Amino acid sequence: MAPLSEFELIRQFFSTLSAGRSDVVEGVGDDAALVDAGSGELLAACVDTLTEDVHFPADAPAEAVGHKALAVNLSDLAAMAARPTWALLALTLPQPDSAWLAGFSAGFRALAESSGVALIGGDTTRGPRRSVSVTLLGRVAADKVLRRRGARPGDRIFVSGTVGDAAAGLRLWQAGERHRAGAVGELLARLHYPTPRLALGAALGGLASAAIDVSDGLAADLGHILAASGVGARIEIERLPLSAALRQLFPLAEARQLALTGGDDYELCFTVPPSQEVRLRQAAARCGTAVTAIGVVEEAAGLRLVDGAGQALVLPQGGYQHFPAGPQP
Ligand code: ADP
Ligand code: MG
Repeated sequence: MAPLSEFELIRQFFSTLSAGRSDVVEGVGDDAALVDAGSGELLAACVDTLTEDVHFPADAPAEAVGHKALAVNLSDLAAMAARPTWALLALTLPQPDSAWLAGFSAGFRALAESSGVALIGGDTTRGPRRSVSVTLLGRVAADKVLRRRGARPGDRIFVSGTVGDAAAGLRLWQAGERHRAGAVGELLARLHYPTPRLALGAALGGLASAAIDVSDGLAADLGHILAASGVGARIEIERLPLSAALRQLFPLAEARQLALTGGDDYELCFTVPPSQEVRLRQAAARCGTAVTAIGVVEEAAGLRLVDGAGQALVLPQGGYQHFPAGPQP
């Protein structure tokens, strides 16, 4: 029997476990869960784990691990248009290394303070390698919440910031690059210190028709919006927003491949009805976050890539999955 994919595993063993209570508005399947807290507002909740050597290199700066553990969760709440409030931190460590903990907690603290999050609890255990799991809660008005479903044919597809930088940064880090300055430093910073798009996410509430954060790669994560919405899309690869640093260090074809399939960018990908496009651009300008139109939602299922002349291109392999389907090596 073929091994289960990450998503098949979740569907088969856990997706029906949300059904037990009527106050669960959104259970397993979106960037965060939504529960009715009884106040007319919804509580949004998500948890993400970073494991040493899987999500961060063992020699990653401790500050970066603290920052990123919170950032990836903030990004999931941003994709629901929720405002983050409270966090719980579960830490597994081989030994109580106070130098590492000082760096880790400083990185966590800086982002928690700037995003208005209070750490209210957690758990600390000993284990064979470092693992950091953050549970994050936040609030969102019921009529402003964003989901992966809701994209309609004709909606424009946008992505915030630039994509492909974190995957490029990971390649550089693995090749031994440690420069803090210049294009190398910029891409390494995008890998280690991602910026969750909280202000933009909140501004998209009631404006975008669907949203997701780009954690596993743009093509794969847009694919989740399309599948959840029962639609397809066409992307013009010449419109993909690439940073100057990425363009400087990688050939164009490779930069585009990284932009489509590289993970860890934590940008927002979202769809907007044509009638809301002017409001969207005003909202993005107010947030100071660049947004780029990269394609359009279509009725026919699947993701189609075209070049500037409208010629079809082959989709490179999908995003990152922890348990890819199919035979294992
Ligand atoms: P994201 O990349 O946005 O963090 P994931 O791809 O990790 O989302 O997860 C997809 C959905 O499955 C989410 O709604 C998540 O809460 C849910 N999920 C993942 N693992 C489990 C699990 N072990 N039990 C219950 N739900 C899970
Ligand atoms: Mg997500």
